[in-house]
Amino acid sequence: MDLTLAQRLESVLERIAEAAARSGRSAGDVTLIGVSKTVDRATVDAAYALGLRHFGENRVQDCIEKFATPLPEDATLHEIGQLQTNKAKQAVRLFDVIHSVDRPSLVDALEKAAGQAGKRVGVLVQVNVAGEDQKAGCEPAEAAGLIEAIEASSSLDLLGLMTMAPLVATAEEARPVFAGLRELRDRLATETGAPLPWLSMGMTNDFEAAIEEGATHVRVGRAIFA
Ligand SMILES: *Cc1c(COP(=O)(O)O)cnc(C)c1O
Repeated sequence: MDLTLAQRLESVLERIAEAAARSGRSAGDVTLIGVSKTVDRATVDAAYALGLRHFGENRVQDCIEKFATPLPEDATLHEIGQLQTNKAKQAVRLFDVIHSVDRPSLVDALEKAAGQAGKRVGVLVQVNVAGEDQKAGCEPAEAAGLIEAIEASSSLDLLGLMTMAPLVATAEEARPVFAGLRELRDRLATETGAPLPWLSMGMTNDFEAAIEEGATHVRVGRAIFA
């Protein structure tokens, strides 16, 4: 029997609460971002009706029509995919938070677009902790420079760091990547003085390990919407 959306959502929330408890935190310390990139707007709205308030998308182009009617005020739309600078204007209009800031030119483009739109946008620095076969994210050594650029901007709010584990990794293989992002955050917070409260890490295959390693935001698609 196929599970319903409500059952899948409930099961993910239970697993989040259990993983949070194992790491000595409460479920409320971890925010579930439902990655709705593979489903239509009606399914997004159904998940909202079930209580989900954070949605993640990866392609600006797909979102223009999908979110032509904005989500209700209390929902947050997150851009989690790679972002081209020529999409900055549309991205700022559509999204509340952008997780994929990985180069100075993108900081500049977002700052300019947010300034023109008169809007504040939350941003995370995406770091390629895993190395190898990952295209997205800055090198760990580049993160401090990006943090300083964001801190110097006037329309971008620096929230923290984001990473992706290698797609083929098991949860246990991904765990050192998550621990690595947490350690990098602790070091950068000391070095730069920026608090970096958000750690956006963990997807369907590995979100429990990510929570055990300190994730504050998990990005889960298939386990909810598949
Ligand atoms: C698609 C995607 C996710 C969700 O992946 P699932 O395996 O479906 O949970 C999370 N983060 C990013 C950046 C993605 O592109």
